Amino acid sequence: MYINGEWVNAQSGETRDIINPYNQEVIATAAEGNEEDTRAAIQAARVAFDEGSWSTLPSSERGELVSRIGTLIRRDLQELAELETLDTGKTVEESRADMADIANVFLYFGGLADKDGGEVISSPIPNSESKVVREPVGVCGQITPWNYPLLQAAWKIAPALAAGNTIVMKPSEITPLTTVKVFELIEEVGIPKGVANLVLGSGASAGAELSTSNDVDLISFTGGIETGKTIMQAASHNMKKIALELGGKNPNIVFADADFETAVDQALNAVFFHAGQVCSAGSRLLIEESIHDEFVEALIERTKHIKLGNGFDENTQSGPMISAEHRAKVENYVEIGKKEGAKLVVGGKRPDDPELQNGFFYLPTIFTNCTSDMRIVQEEVFGPVLTVETFKTKEEAVKLANDTIYGLAGAVWTQDLSKAEFVAARLRMGTVWINDFHPYFAQAPWGGYKQSGIGRELGREGMDEYTEVKHIYRNK
Ligand code: NAD
Repeated sequence: MYINGEWVNAQSGETRDIINPYNQEVIATAAEGNEEDTRAAIQAARVAFDEGSWSTLPSSERGELVSRIGTLIRRDLQELAELETLDTGKTVEESRADMADIANVFLYFGGLADKDGGEVISSPIPNSESKVVREPVGVCGQITPWNYPLLQAAWKIAPALAAGNTIVMKPSEITPLTTVKVFELIEEVGIPKGVANLVLGSGASAGAELSTSNDVDLISFTGGIETGKTIMQAASHNMKKIALELGGKNPNIVFADADFETAVDQALNAVFFHAGQVCSAGSRLLIEESIHDEFVEALIERTKHIKLGNGFDENTQSGPMISAEHRAKVENYVEIGKKEGAKLVVGGKRPDDPELQNGFFYLPTIFTNCTSDMRIVQEEVFGPVLTVETFKTKEEAVKLANDTIYGLAGAVWTQDLSKAEFVAARLRMGTVWINDFHPYFAQAPWGGYKQSGIGRELGREGMDEYTEVKHIYRNK
């Protein structure tokens, strides 16, 4: 752990083995911090913030340091990508793409640091002057999940530091490796001690302290909806600012006039990318009734050829699930789907391949004959499981798509732009893709409507989350 500019073990001396989900080998031993360690980190961040040299450093200098982290990530991209693949099982190609995005996130927010000079507004009171400025919030607690370990961390670390806050980051206890490595880079660029702190350990102890502590001013969390609710309640204790990036059950709407081949390939990519362990996975396929049979046939055929394997093997298209527990959760949902009367048309079990028996693999799975009232259609499975429903009109497609407690992302496929715009305008979701799935980048905000979260990451909005707005009025 990195606390107050020092690399330290847990005060309790506890450690945790970090497992490669491809073969269950122990790849590292991490410090297992608890409340005590988190309190020490919060204290360091509090002192560093209150002392003020980071928040009052000229914003261009802060920005330069944050950008430099991005440059070092580019320098160490291959090493970081390999670590991420060891830790998560995702293909090294995916990990490399993640690292390139992560470097861009640091460069983007580093560049934004000195762009907001505040605003003079016209005051209705004679002989007065009013200006509105943005200031850092203070000490920020940041908690990330295991599916995109460093990507989610970067979305939080970069804007928080660029805006002049101090931070305590707690990554998922099962995938801490790349976040540790980035704190080495934070040390290398010379971010002052106490400004950026890293604690490792479980959510219930090391994490929970961040949401309950009175010394934390903001908590930013990415993870499951139930954990999000717990954190929101705990944060109410001292009225912390909260930013929550939670789950999704994202619709992928395909009209009959869509480019068939691309829509089939992308429907598979939408849901099976990273074994479906993606908050924005297109796990609900809504397909216009007239092309249902032909489309499903093509999906099944292509699904059978998805190559599961070692993320380091360049032929691998999909790696394992993150853990035995998580695979068991997915298996349970498949059983629920069968009992609910959905039709299992491909997958629905672990692979037979003897080489995959030590990893937490599960075959890409598709259910047809699904209806909105089914749990597999409503609940986030967070695995390689696709449900298929049909619609007849664009109005019905919108209604089905919005029939969810979630509102993270959705996509629409059609060659008719006006139909696409009709749907895009009505989806109650933070991101809508037209004739594509998954693109995101540092410049565009990301976040959820409804129970998918509160607030936004990335873009200018992602930086604003880490600022307070102050009105300064002067009587001349
Ligand atoms: P999780 O909620 O189990 O854990 C996320 C993090 O919270 C971990 O670091 C964990 O240690 C910590 N945590 C757990 N209990 C805590 C508590 N009581 N107090 C403080 N911290 C606690 O989620 P997960 O299983 O790691 O990740 C999967 C979930 O993340 C999915 O629901 C997925 O949709 C969501 N996710 C959302 C986005 C997004 O951008 N909206 C991105 C990635 C993942």
